Amino acid sequence: MDIEVNYKNKKRYKTAKYPMHQGLFWTWLIWLLSKIALMGKKYKVETIGMDGLKPPYMLLSNHMHFIDFELTAQATYPYPVSNVVSIDGYVVKWFLLEWIGAIATRKFTTDIHLVKSIRHVLKRGDILAMYPEARYTPCGTLAFLPDSVGKLIKMNKVPVVAVVHHGNHLYAPFWDFRHKRKVPMHTQLKQILTPEQIEDMTVSEINETLRRELTYDEYRYQKENGIRITESFRAEGLHKILYQCPHCKTEFQMDSKGTELFCNACSKRWNWNEDGYLQALSGETEFDHIPDWFAWERQQVSRQIESGEYHFDDEVEVFSLPRVWRYIPLGKAKLTHSIENGFTLEGHYRGQRYFIHRQTAQTNSLHVEYDFGPLKKFDYVDISTENDSFYCRPSKPNQITKLAFATEALYLRSQKQKTQKA
Ligand SMILES: [Zn+2]
Repeated sequence: MDIEVNYKNKKRYKTAKYPMHQGLFWTWLIWLLSKIALMGKKYKVETIGMDGLKPPYMLLSNHMHFIDFELTAQATYPYPVSNVVSIDGYVVKWFLLEWIGAIATRKFTTDIHLVKSIRHVLKRGDILAMYPEARYTPCGTLAFLPDSVGKLIKMNKVPVVAVVHHGNHLYAPFWDFRHKRKVPMHTQLKQILTPEQIEDMTVSEINETLRRELTYDEYRYQKENGIRITESFRAEGLHKILYQCPHCKTEFQMDSKGTELFCNACSKRWNWNEDGYLQALSGETEFDHIPDWFAWERQQVSRQIESGEYHFDDEVEVFSLPRVWRYIPLGKAKLTHSIENGFTLEGHYRGQRYFIHRQTAQTNSLHVEYDFGPLKKFDYVDISTENDSFYCRPSKPNQITKLAFATEALYLRSQKQKTQKA
């Protein structure tokens, strides 16, 4: 059982409420501000099979950077859109998000009201926009897509539009988003399901369609379109996702500088070429394609789980978000992640112990933030419950990508065990 934090003010930000309707003024203003923000950038927004399509409909988009919102707004104007937004997006500017009809949620929790809010928006005749990966892509490919999205579609029976952005991750990779690269962007909106098709399909067929239509690979896009990224800092930060050396297998000793990625344990170096592919500076190039290296790391974590050797514990610095006015510093705490027990977070605040437990079956993925702006620019993982969020900064370097892999693998393992028992 969780023991809640002993806050002075016991109030919480209420996510269980219906979103406001976005007034026409706001729809116009969002379109205009997005247009201004996109000025001077090379982009194209294309629509397929959307002639005559009027709301309500669902927009399901891949997710790379804030610029995704600005690009999508160019295609949905003049209709109002309600976006599902993570609670940390509400900090300070919560009233603004309420006015524009956003729906707040705490990531990777069981948010029952979210389903009701989505239904409410669609019944009202608006566009509902969701980023079902619920994160910026770490390596330019489709992240974990929960099966619940298919259920949501089946339940609402409105047209579904897939939004696939290309180039946005190359422009501002999640792990080094402060430094923009010059890259042309391409956004495609395509109607992929009609209400009649949804009626005839099973939930798993819907999920299959979604996965097929939302699949993307930014580095392949780069190569196929002959895009050269010439910025001299282009590899800086890449070690945050490529944290394990494929040569000596050491974890968390990778680093990057300029156009190079290197291992501090065995000194092997790779150059990140202008075409988006890697090349070892000596010996074999284990992986030239970044998503392959990333997938290999995921396999290594799954193997550690299978063999029973996976375990994480660390002293972390915690900031919580019971409400959205500001982050509350809770000081140091102990975070553990284990095969049988999932996440536990244990600390003290205002003289009392608190204890948060998330079982492996409770959370299908992990919210990670690289170089997180609001909290002094470190890497964080967010362990959310249904009414609080704990942003934890590990003291050990470069841990968070692996924690996300382990969370997803342990969730899948728990689902498998459930079906075996049934
Ligand atoms: Zn190495």
